Amino acid sequence: MALIITDECINCDVCEPECPNEAIYLGPEIYEIDPAKCTECVGHFDEPQCVQVCPVACIPVNPQHVESQETLWQKFQRLQKAGQPLSAAGDGSAPAA
Ligand code: SF4
Ligand code: SF4
Repeated sequence: MALIITDECINCDVCEPECPNEAIYLGPEIYEIDPAKCTECVGHFDEPQCVQVCPVACIPVNPQHVESQETLWQKFQRLQKAGQPLSAAGDGSAPAA
């Protein structure tokens, strides 16, 4: 699942730099998560980094974006390819983190 930031967010700016996928951005009122980029940190960390650092615990799973571990892994791989168009790997194997 992608995660979502609720309106309890206090705009503390702690989570944004922690996201390995650059999925977090400042929206019109509070920080928001792009569900197309959030892999729930699959491929990077064992736990969602934004949840780890959020001081008010306002980042639950997004019920509008329920995804399996496999789907999250595929999204991670797509994002990696998009960010590294000239990568020599390209064999679908797990990248050295
Ligand atoms: S769970 Fe991970 S990938 Fe998703 S927004 Fe939080 S830090 Fe970014
Ligand atoms: S860490 Fe939590 S309170 Fe701070 S900006 Fe991110 S979502 Fe909002």
